[in-house]
Amino acid sequence: MTTTTRTLNQTLNRTPKLLLGPGPSNVHPDVLAAMAQPMIGHLDPAFLKILDRVQARLRTLFGTDNAMTLPLSTTGSGGMEACFGNLVEPGDAVVIGVNGVFGNRMCDVASRLGGEVTRVDADWGRILDDDAMSDAIARVRPRVVAFVHAETSTGVHQPVENISRAARDVGAFVILDCVTSLAGLPVRLDEWGVDAAYSGTQKCLSCPPGLSPATFSPRAVERAGDRSAPCTSWYLDINLLAGYFGGERVYHHTAPISAIFALDEALRLVEEEGLETRAARHRDAAEALIAGLAEFGFEPLVDAAHRLPMLTSVRLPESVKKAGEGAVRRKLLDDHEIEVGGGLGALAGEIWRIGLMGENARRENVARLLEALSKELR
Ligand SMILES: *Cc1c(COP(=O)(O)O)cnc(C)c1O
Repeated sequence: MTTTTRTLNQTLNRTPKLLLGPGPSNVHPDVLAAMAQPMIGHLDPAFLKILDRVQARLRTLFGTDNAMTLPLSTTGSGGMEACFGNLVEPGDAVVIGVNGVFGNRMCDVASRLGGEVTRVDADWGRILDDDAMSDAIARVRPRVVAFVHAETSTGVHQPVENISRAARDVGAFVILDCVTSLAGLPVRLDEWGVDAAYSGTQKCLSCPPGLSPATFSPRAVERAGDRSAPCTSWYLDINLLAGYFGGERVYHHTAPISAIFALDEALRLVEEEGLETRAARHRDAAEALIAGLAEFGFEPLVDAAHRLPMLTSVRLPESVKKAGEGAVRRKLLDDHEIEVGGGLGALAGEIWRIGLMGENARRENVARLLEALSKELR
C-alpha cells in the first residue's frame, strides 16, 4: 500500500513537459479531470447520453451527416486499419498518394488486406500532384483511393477536392487520413466527397492517445455490408460495431469509458472555442514559430501555400547539425522540459518537426521554445 502510494505520488509530481512534437500534445486539465471520474457501465443510460453527444460533436468536426460516426477503441493507425479493412477486399485495386510516412503505412495496410496497390509518389515535403493522381485513378479505376490530409511526417497540408472528384468520377471510395488535421483545420468530408476518414485523439484534440474518431458514409456502410467475405477484423468490422455505436446500443466490446469521458470534454472545449477561432489560433502560433526560428537559421521545409499550421517542419541550421541535432533535442527535453520531434526516413537528421497542436497552439509556448533554444544555441 505504502509503496503503491509513493510510486503514484512520484508519478504525479513529475514536472510537466511541454509537448511540441508530432503528438501527443498536452492535455487540458479539465480533460484529465474528466478521465478521473468514477466508472459507470457502458450500457448505463447516463453513459449512452455522453456517447450520443460525442458522436454528434464528431459529425460537426468532420463536416458530415454520416450516421456511422464513432470513436473507435484504438489509436489513429487502428482507424486506418478500420477504413481499409472494411472497404478493401482481396484483389481490389487501390490507388494511394504517398508523400510521407503515413501514406507509406496506408500502402502497407492495404496490401496486407490483399489490395492491389498503385502508389503515386510525391517528394516528401510537397503535396501530391492532382494530375498524377487523376491519371492513375483514370487508368486503374480503383475500388478505393486514399491519401493523407495532414502529413505529420513532413508538415504538408494536402488539398482534397480535386483528387476526391477524380475518385468519385470512377465510382471509387475515398479514404482520408485526418489524424492531425481534425480540430486544427477545417474538415468538410461531405462537401469534399470523402467516404471514410479517421483521426486520433492525441493531436489537435489534445486528449490522451487511445481513441480514433472515424466516420463512414452511407455508401461505405453499404459496401461494407455487401462484401463477398466479411471484414477480416472482427473487432473493427463496422457491420458489427453498428450494433453498439448505431441506434441499438447492444454489446459488441466494452467501450473505453474513461477515454470517452475525456473525448467528450475535449470536444466540449473545441465547441466552446469555435472551430474557426481554433484554426486561426493554430495559424497564428505557427507564424510566430516560423518567424522566431528564422532568427536561428531554421528554414521551413514546405512552401508557404502548403504548410500545416499544427506541424511545422524546418531544415536544421549548421549550428544545430554541428552540435548534433539529437543532442540538442535531448537538452531541450532534459533541461527545459520541452519535447520536439526529429525527422523520419530520408529527413532524419535534416529536419525538426515542431507541433503546436490543440491546446499547445499558443504564442506563449512558442516563446518558451525560442527562449530555450537561445540558451542552447548561443
Ligand atoms: C499520428 C498519425 C497516425 C497514427 O496514429 P497513432 O495514434 O500513432 O496510431 C496516422 N496518420 C497520421 C497523419 C498521424 O499523424
